[in-house]
Amino acid sequence: MVGTAPATRRTAQKEAVWQALESSPGFVSAQDLHQQLVAAGASVGLATVYRQLAALAAEGRADTIPDAGGLLYRVCAPGGHHHHLVCESCGRAVEIQPPLEDWIRQTAQDSGYTITRHVLEVFGTCPQCAAR
Ligand SMILES: [Zn+2]
Ligand SMILES: [Zn+2]
Ligand SMILES: [Zn+2]
Repeated sequence: MVGTAPATRRTAQKEAVWQALESSPGFVSAQDLHQQLVAAGASVGLATVYRQLAALAAEGRADTIPDAGGLLYRVCAPGGHHHHLVCESCGRAVEIQPPLEDWIRQTAQDSGYTITRHVLEVFGTCPQCAAR
């Protein structure tokens, strides 16, 4: 059974990363998630956490937003294209169903661009953090 061990371990690691991400109330960095996993007793390397998060994002199971230090990750309610209202102190996020996005297409068209993707996130302070 030596041959199946690595794949089993990879699956277990992916599951651990998934569960840690799912139990997180807001967007987290790979570093923070790694610290949580290690604190919980998981033996998983930071490189693995990065790899598994990237895989989850590629599968559409996790959302990402760009941050100064890299990407932040979160498990989002399924439901297609949306944006986020993100707390800058704790990472808690609210999903925003975008209004008509014709202006994005129009703006790009006016400049002769063909859109391949767009990123639009709103940052602020959540009620919990504001109350502190
Ligand atoms: Zn989302
Ligand atoms: Zn907050
Ligand atoms: Zn959009």
